[in-house]
Parts: sequence; C-alpha cells; structure tokens
Amino acid sequence: MPETELSNPLMRNPETEVAAAVPDLETQTGTAVTREKRQAAVEPDPEAEPMTKPKQNGERYRLLKNIGALAVCPMQGGQAHIHLIRNAVILWKGDTIQYAGGQEGLREWFRSRGTAGADEPRRSGRDATGEFGESEVPGVPEVPEGSGEPGESRKPGGPGSAEAGPMPLPEQTEVFDAGGRLVIPGLVDCHTHLAFGGWRPDEFEMRSLGKSYEEIAAAGGGILSTMKATRKATEDELLDKSAGLLHRMMSLGVTTIECKSGYGLRLEDELKQLRVYQRLRMQSPVRIMSTFLGAHAIPPEFRDNRNGYVSLVIGEMIPAVAEHKLATFCDVFADAPAFTQAEARNVLTAAAEAGLIPKIHADQLTAAGGAELAAEVGAISADHLECISDKGIAAIKDAGIIAVSLPLATWYLRKQPLPARELIRSGVPVAVSTDFNPGSAPSYHLPLAMHLACTLQHMSPAEVLKGATIYAAAALGLDGVTGSVEAGKKADFVEIDVEGEGNLPGHAADPLHGHTGAGLQSGSGRSESRRPADRNQNGERNEPSPDIGLAGPVNQWMYHFQPNNAVRVWAGGECVADSGWNRNL
Ligand SMILES: [Zn+2]
Repeated sequence: MPETELSNPLMRNPETEVAAAVPDLETQTGTAVTREKRQAAVEPDPEAEPMTKPKQNGERYRLLKNIGALAVCPMQGGQAHIHLIRNAVILWKGDTIQYAGGQEGLREWFRSRGTAGADEPRRSGRDATGEFGESEVPGVPEVPEGSGEPGESRKPGGPGSAEAGPMPLPEQTEVFDAGGRLVIPGLVDCHTHLAFGGWRPDEFEMRSLGKSYEEIAAAGGGILSTMKATRKATEDELLDKSAGLLHRMMSLGVTTIECKSGYGLRLEDELKQLRVYQRLRMQSPVRIMSTFLGAHAIPPEFRDNRNGYVSLVIGEMIPAVAEHKLATFCDVFADAPAFTQAEARNVLTAAAEAGLIPKIHADQLTAAGGAELAAEVGAISADHLECISDKGIAAIKDAGIIAVSLPLATWYLRKQPLPARELIRSGVPVAVSTDFNPGSAPSYHLPLAMHLACTLQHMSPAEVLKGATIYAAAALGLDGVTGSVEAGKKADFVEIDVEGEGNLPGHAADPLHGHTGAGLQSGSGRSESRRPADRNQNGERNEPSPDIGLAGPVNQWMYHFQPNNAVRVWAGGECVADSGWNRNL
C-alpha cells in the first residue's frame, strides 16, 4: 500500500487562521486530553481530514442566521455546560468558523477586525469615517430585515428586529436561514466498527429468547462469525457497504467518526479493513479516524496458541499498520472472553512504541481492571466501562482519560449501564458513542444512543450532547479541531428540528453567562471565570448543573425521540445533508 500524500490542513497550511485561532485547550479546564496525546492524534498525516472535500467556496463568507439557540459545547466547564446562545449566527469561510455567537456580537466582531487592520470585512464594510456603515455602504448587503422569512416572526429581538438592526456583511456573503431552530456541533461518533461483512440477525433472535453469549458462540455466532464474512468480502464490497452506512450516519448529523478494524484477525484482512477507511476518507465529507483492533478476538487458527496470535499482532500487524500509516489508534478488547490484561498491556505498549495511541475496550463484561490498564498505558479513552470499579474511576480520573459510554451495547446486551453519575461526579468526562457493530450494537444511530444515555445512564440531555460532541472529539484527540461551534474550529454543525426558544427561561438561555448576545471567544477563558455553579461544595468540577431547565431546546430534542431531527448537516463548511424540511416552515 503506497503511502498517502494526505496531511492535516491545520499543519499543512500555516497561512490559514485556524492554527492561531484554535483555543489552547491545555490551559483550560474540563479537558482530559494532554497536549502530547492531542498532537499525536492530529499529527499523523493520513488520519485527519478528507482531502476531497469541496473547496469551491473557500474565499467566500457564509452566514447561518436566525439560529434560535446555538449549543456551543465548549471544552471549558463541566459535563452539563453546553453554553446556549439565543438569536445566534455562525459566520464561516472555507471550512473554518470565523465567528459563532449572538448577532450583536457579530457586529462587534466586524468592527474589531476593522480596527485591527483585518482584511475583507474592513475593505468592504468601513465608510469614510472609519465606522462600519449600515445599508448605505456600497457593496455590503444586509441580513434581510423583517423579511417575513420562516421563523423570524416568532423571534422577538432576533434577526430582523429593530433591536438587532441591519447587519453589514462582506460582499458575496452567502446567507442561510436556520429558521429559528436549535443548532449543535456536528456529532462525533468516537467508537464504531464500521466495516464488516454480513450481519447477525439470528443472534438477535437467540438473545431475545434468552440464549447466552456462550450458547450463541457455540452455534457459530459472535465475532468469529463476522470474521468469516469479512475475510470473504472484497475490499470494494466492504467499501460499498460502509459508504452506504456512513452516508446514513451523516444524515443523522455525524460529521466525525472513528472506525475500527478487528474482523480480519490476520494481517491481510486487518489491512483490508483499514484501507477501506482510508478510501472512505478520500470520498466522504465525514472526518474519519482509524483504529487498529487486531486484538479483538483470538481467530480459530490460533485457538490453541494464544501467545502465537499476540506475537503476530505485535510482531507483524502493528509494524505494518504503523509503516503504512493506516491508523492513529490501537485498541484491544481487554475482557474475559478476549484478551487478558497482561496480553492487552503487551499489545498496547508495543503499539505506543510504534506511534499508535492506545484505546481499550475495558470493563464491559467484568471488572477486569481495564480502566486501570488504560491509565497505565496512557490511553486516550477507555470505552464501555459498564463494570468499572471505584479504583478504575479514580485511575482514569487521575490519568485524564475520557470515558466512552456505549449505551446501545448496554441496551442490546441487557447489561447494567456504566455508572455515568459517579464518573461525572468524580470529574471524568463521559463521551457517548454507538459502538456500531453487527453483534452487540447493530445500530448506527447516534441520536438513539444519546437518548438511551439519558434513560439508561441517568445523564441529562445537555450532558449527553456534550458527550457526543466535544468530549467525543477529545476521545479522538480532535478537541482542537471539531466538537464545538467556536471560531477557529472546522465548520461542522447541525440544524436540529427543534425550535430554539424551547423552554428557555426569560431572555437569557444561560444565566451563568449573563448577556446572551455575546459570542463565546475561543480561549478567552471568560466563561470559565463565571462558572461557580459548575463546582460543588468541595470545589470539584463537573457536577451536573443544579439549574434544571436551562437546556430547554436540547431537552425538547431528546425528550421526543424521533428517527431523525437533523434538518441540515454542515461538514467542513459544506452542506452535506439536507432533509428539505426547512422549506416547509
Ligand atoms: Zn466496540
């Protein structure tokens, strides 16, 4: 497999404003990802950005106006802190957000850029006095005022009102209307097994009738069943199937996804799965991160030679994956039916030496010490954790590891959910993902997983939203790139079919932040300093917000579980899915 020329545009193009604008999250609280891990995750060149993403509008500003409520989901603050801003706008150029916040803040943003000697807005927007003109400035169109466009009439104080006034915009700015709806960051599915052959619906029936894992395996089911089908499938067949699934996930609002190998269980087929992800990355606007999971199960040919298989993973597979830059991460199923802690330690240590970042399927079926091992090997995330011990919680808290919850697997397997409240109370960020796979979680539906995180894991909708956006991005080392709607981040966001007003109390969606018209300035630390309610009596962070109801429209969204609430999905600044519902307002 030839090495690819792909590279991360953040690293490749120093002229872009992105590098300077991405907040220095290391200095902010709430992040559990060290700088080393994050940079290591972003720097390997083949993994970060789909290079075929259309760039035809790279020099033109685009504006999404009339956002009823924008859930910024910054890394700062605790799990419940999503920073809702009413009457918001998002301005972006190419694939990068320039401004996200209240409409009045946009006016100030233009003004400050003008005085700071900035480029396009000043040239087209300033008049002879040096002040920003309004409608009289030649070549500066306005956001239509009182145009009677969908949603505007219901939004006192919103775009088009006398309070807001006309908004000067650079020439050729393309304006889109969010119809007063909720806008969230593009969802991040940080744990999937996307490419595989076949399905296993018979196991669903067997499990429904009470058959055990062992009985299902004895009947030829389980991971090895999918292994056979995956080995049999050609790379093109796997690609076609995965592309179809990925497209459906994208239409649900997913703009970043992690994909694991682990159904080949021999060198050529593990590489085949990872090449599928590499090709998907080239053809899809979804950002794809790859994980090598050769240590997913012991294949039948090594049934009586476990050490032989572990040696193969360490001695041949990991070097090949690293050499061809086919994955950023290395994962191990470190639990009773699969690999022992000692085996997992050996694999992950070798992987880290080869430049792959450790992840672990930990403590899913037994309290086997997977969380402790995650801390020991410096994993970026520990996933599953249904059976995590108190010691394990303390270990991943101290090591700054993201806990990835997988409520669909909990649900399908009828297991106890992970103790999300204890994790959050302990200060561990809890991400939410699908674990999409043909056996224990055969649904790619991240919004369903989010709904289940509320009902099974006792997380609030706001906590869950943060878990499926910025914390999930952090579990992939991408929290400086995506996962929140902030200046400098990639323009990945989703318009949700929920009115932004929801049950928001009074004028302020988020009293912790006072004035709702102000945008959240990346890296400014402003919001953090105003957040005493995110600390408990002991000064610990990440307590759930005691202010029930603050997340109005987000509550409304997850309260009614519906098949798909994503009206429009934007990835890298381009509209990649449009349900057409926007036209019916
Ligand atoms: Zn998994």
